[in-house]
Amino acid sequence: MPRVFTGSPVRDLLALTSRPEVISFAGGLPAPGLFDVDGLRSAYDRALSRRTLQYAPTEGDAALRGLVADRLTRRGLPTAAGDLLVTSGSQQALGLVATALLEPGAVVAVEEPTYLAALQCFRLADARVVPVAGDDRGVDPAALAEVIERDRPALLYLVPTFANPTGRTLDAARRAEVAALADRHGLWVVEDDPYGELRYRGEPVPPLASMSDRVLYTGSFSKVGAPGMRLGWLRAPESIMRTLVVVKQAADLHTSAVDQAAAAEYLAANDLDEHIRGLCAAYRERRDAMVDALPSTVPPGARWSDPDGGMFVWVSLPGGVDTGELVHEALRRDVAFVPGAAFYATGPDRSTLRLSFTTNAVEGIREGMRRLATVLR
Ligand code: PMP
Repeated sequence: MPRVFTGSPVRDLLALTSRPEVISFAGGLPAPGLFDVDGLRSAYDRALSRRTLQYAPTEGDAALRGLVADRLTRRGLPTAAGDLLVTSGSQQALGLVATALLEPGAVVAVEEPTYLAALQCFRLADARVVPVAGDDRGVDPAALAEVIERDRPALLYLVPTFANPTGRTLDAARRAEVAALADRHGLWVVEDDPYGELRYRGEPVPPLASMSDRVLYTGSFSKVGAPGMRLGWLRAPESIMRTLVVVKQAADLHTSAVDQAAAAEYLAANDLDEHIRGLCAAYRERRDAMVDALPSTVPPGARWSDPDGGMFVWVSLPGGVDTGELVHEALRRDVAFVPGAAFYATGPDRSTLRLSFTTNAVEGIREGMRRLATVLR
């Protein structure tokens, strides 16, 4: 008998929001107008002249690994090319880690709510997912210590910077506590960081991986480059890198050599930091437009996150409403969001929802929020 898995409600919803008249705050999609199409086109052109059409090493393109290692090192995470495995999006990195580290029935601790496709990954590995309480400063180290004591997790999964879905950031003091707990208990931690470079205010927080050797760090080209290229990377300690490479080999031999070479050409010839500054300028305005519109969009008593970066605002509505029902009314009024329930490992809070502010320009956000107000208020 084939095993049965339910699909991602976000991907199901994306299908419904593809009507052009819908203003969608549902998908966590980068703004399509801000892709550097010309820069990528010439990078692909140069990549093809480098004859990248052959099978290639599982670990990844040497030039790309070197360039990514340099970027991570500059961001405060000292990294050598050999510490990195290139993956087919950071999503694949999560799957590889689950296969490499989790026995069936193993416990994975997650902040709650959390990235739903990570939950899918851990469920696929037959893990038992246990939530750890947190607040606006991120996961609570005291609650984590209790979960470690009670459930003996093999792995802790975190999106510590501008989390999906909440937009929250784990502050530096708590990072140090989480790192110390990981060291003390021999707990593996995944620091999933596709959004960390999209900061609109405040100072960068040190990567969790810079504080403990128990942290596997995963990054992505999706939010700062282009998600269609499906490029991510995993930085892992030597002791488990060999296993991860074997698992990757079994999964797909290697990530597309053409796409990797194009990314390497792109990073060598273009100033990605400059491109990211442009993205941040645009996304900051969009973030502000959404947050400014919220008081007149949601009913009194609602609460929302006020993210310093990333792509998401997380909203909690008062009065025991079910956003899974409201979303149908929203779609009838040509606006979309993601109901929050799917982001919970266990007992979902159905009065929550996720809004993404990156895909639409400011005018679209204002109009979308006006439509949303007619549904929520
Ligand atoms: N982790 C998080 C927290 C995400 O939000 C996403 C994308 N939505 C991913 C990983 C996967 O990104 P990709 O595979 O495109 O790198």
